[in-house]
Amino acid sequence: MVPTIVYSDEIRGYDFGPGHPFRSDRYANFMRLLRSSLDAHREIEPRCASDEELMLVHDKAYIDALLAASDGAWLRSSSFMSPDTPLQPGMERAARFIVGASMTAAEVVWKSDTPHAVGVGGGLHHARRSYAAGFCIYNDVAVCALNLLQNHGAERILILDTDAHAGDGTCHIFYRDPRVLFIDLHQDPHTLYPGTGFAYEIGEDKGRGFTVNVPMPPGASDQAYEYALDHIFAPLAEEFHPQIIIRNGGSDPHFADELTDLGLTLEGFRMVGEKVRQVAERVCEGRRVDLLGSGYNQTVLPPAWLALVAGSAGLDIKLKEAFRLPISTDSGLDETRRVVEEVKKNLRGHWRCLRM
Ligand SMILES: [Zn+2]
Repeated sequence: MVPTIVYSDEIRGYDFGPGHPFRSDRYANFMRLLRSSLDAHREIEPRCASDEELMLVHDKAYIDALLAASDGAWLRSSSFMSPDTPLQPGMERAARFIVGASMTAAEVVWKSDTPHAVGVGGGLHHARRSYAAGFCIYNDVAVCALNLLQNHGAERILILDTDAHAGDGTCHIFYRDPRVLFIDLHQDPHTLYPGTGFAYEIGEDKGRGFTVNVPMPPGASDQAYEYALDHIFAPLAEEFHPQIIIRNGGSDPHFADELTDLGLTLEGFRMVGEKVRQVAERVCEGRRVDLLGSGYNQTVLPPAWLALVAGSAGLDIKLKEAFRLPISTDSGLDETRRVVEEVKKNLRGHWRCLRM
């Protein structure tokens, strides 16, 4: 089956301007590499998310404020926006297409016999209900999941967040919701933005046990990630039995990323994609969605996104590392074993599989 890629040039308006680490040339650079690397693929145009769709997650007053601000104004800070996320004219509309791409990718997988789709630009996981932060204004991951739950009859969704940063927005939105099992592998929040996502944060009320934070040590390598995926993600997915897996996260766990200190190689990204495919094939007839948005080394970003797609779609694509690996491929493995034990200890009252 050829990979299904949901992409619109409209998302190129999602650009924070000169000097900011999040620029929109990432999208065109990735699409150029993707189109030249794949023998065959299918591209689908996303829709522009409506107010009603955004309101699955976001407050109307917040949406209206972003709309008003994007109308030619330039906002560096306000009560609904952190200073690292300065809205530029045109961004609000582009963000709607990113949300639309994530929703479209999930709907294609949910409604057709296409088991896998990629939403380009998605994974804006720091956005809260009425607050923009961490380069994210609308939380497409949460809208995408709530759209399936509320409008398409889904009952159990697993979100796997492999971005280097903890997905604090998504975590907060689903913290009391047992319909969504949120598993988040990210760099130890003692050492990286947003400073939350500790192993003891496991959800509240009915959602207790349905938030799983796995803080990876700085330097965490391919083997460390593989260990965490095998010992946390795979068994929990088997026990929770989701109907679909939504994985978000781009290239920022790469060892050469400029904002982070993790240690994945391109082959490590491929491995992450492969694990998601294998687990999805075991638990939910292969239904999985990849949302790709992050990454701050522009040499690494296109091949790392492609590596994720190659692993998740099961494609044999050659990957060439542009930088020399500064650490060993088992870097951080011992510390990751300790973290995994801590995660299991906190959650074993909620999950049988973690008692072993
Ligand atoms: Zn990130």
